[in-house]
Amino acid sequence: MASGNAYEQLISKHREMNTLQTISWGLNWDQDVMMPPKGLKSRARELEYLAGLIHDMVIDEEIGELLDACESDESVIGDRLSVSAVNVREIRRGYDMAVKLPSQLVKDLTSASSLARAAWADAKKNNDFKGFAPQLEKLVALLREKADCLGGGEDGGEKWDALAEEYEPGCKARDVEAVFKPLRERLVDLVGRLAESSYQPKDVVNHVEVDFDQQLSFAKVIAGKIGFDFEGGRLDTSSHPFCSGFGYGDCRMTTRIHKNKMPDALSSTMHESGHGMYTQGTLEEHAGTPMGSYVSLGIHESQSRLWENQVGRSEAFWKWCMPLMHEHFGEKFAGVHARDVYESLNIVERSLIRTQADEVTYNLHIMIRFELELALVRGDLNVADLPGAWNEKYKDYLGIDVPDDGVGCLQDIHWSLGAIGYFPTYTLGNLYSAQFYEKANQELGDLHAMFEQGDFTTLLGWLRKNIHEHGMRYRAGELCEVVTGEKLKADALLRHLEGKYGEVYKL
Ligand code: ZN
Repeated sequence: MASGNAYEQLISKHREMNTLQTISWGLNWDQDVMMPPKGLKSRARELEYLAGLIHDMVIDEEIGELLDACESDESVIGDRLSVSAVNVREIRRGYDMAVKLPSQLVKDLTSASSLARAAWADAKKNNDFKGFAPQLEKLVALLREKADCLGGGEDGGEKWDALAEEYEPGCKARDVEAVFKPLRERLVDLVGRLAESSYQPKDVVNHVEVDFDQQLSFAKVIAGKIGFDFEGGRLDTSSHPFCSGFGYGDCRMTTRIHKNKMPDALSSTMHESGHGMYTQGTLEEHAGTPMGSYVSLGIHESQSRLWENQVGRSEAFWKWCMPLMHEHFGEKFAGVHARDVYESLNIVERSLIRTQADEVTYNLHIMIRFELELALVRGDLNVADLPGAWNEKYKDYLGIDVPDDGVGCLQDIHWSLGAIGYFPTYTLGNLYSAQFYEKANQELGDLHAMFEQGDFTTLLGWLRKNIHEHGMRYRAGELCEVVTGEKLKADALLRHLEGKYGEVYKL
């Protein structure tokens, strides 16, 4: 056994590993935002080298010994919510997940997913599902094996649970199903009523052409006003917006800009700012440890969706933002009022593509993917039958016919990367965001009145205190109960969507 204070040694080893991880995240950011094309081969080598070092550090036997020592020390783990107990619990979780997987399986998964990713890209381009199916089959078989190694299903749950653990610790398929079912039924009904409404809002802003630099500078103004700290971060552009960074105090986010879609740049900036402000809201003393990290992808997404939707798609926000927009863009939006933009941003449409979906239908796109991936992992659905099952669900839930697989089951990259268990985190994020926002509104008073005055710090302060500063102290479900007094339910999101869209569509 290692000598000295086992907990301190454990934390120092973990921080070393985390340092390599943040270097590789930074290199990834650089690759997407700054790197010239010819740098690709060197960058791949650098990232592979770092990944190898990180893996060796994660599975280092000494970590196991230090964990054993910490777990037999009451002063470290006695209070399960203390900083030390949480750090030990989470480092143990990562260690166990890594050492339970045979290295041959890890290698097989890496090569299968790189082949599947390439096959997927071709299949999507050529609308040829058959070209992708054998690779996906192989990948699903390996993921089922991975779930078995991780003990998936042994606790009476599902193999899928073990795969989701990587993205949403503690997440169980049956809990997801229990929340998704009522949500699906009422959303299908709501989408139908909105489609039939005699009043249909019109898009008055998405055709106005706006200069790239002007959009980016406005996006920076808004990100700063809502609370993103530019002393501790940057905003750049990339084809797929994301948020990462080089570690504490250096948060890097990107947005996407199209000439005639100014509101889209703003929505995506507010979304990434939500992620960024969560990262910036963790405490420096916990940097590089689980207590300075995030709970889960679902909770991360709850922060981005809250700023994107509850704030950025509210009428109150636009009452505050419109004068700034007129000032910034001059005559471009002359005659456009806050209400016009508000309605333009809240048009609900049954559409084929998830990433372009609105706030209401988005969740139906996610549920379809969740149900299908669950069936694949259970062995209830063969890969060959995926397109048919996909198209059937799009007809059932969204009432639309899928013309081809390119805009159908081949549209997303996730499954080709082996990311099964990931999709539900998007809708979990929407559910958590609605439940958190409702609680904040109860505790803080009228948030819309604050937004109209440009006050966003009150809300951000509440999120910091209740969510960001806790790091990984609570699992997502427990955090939700601690913050809102209730388990995660579909009710708050449904109240938000039915209330808002009922008003926009004059139901
Ligand atoms: Zn996000």
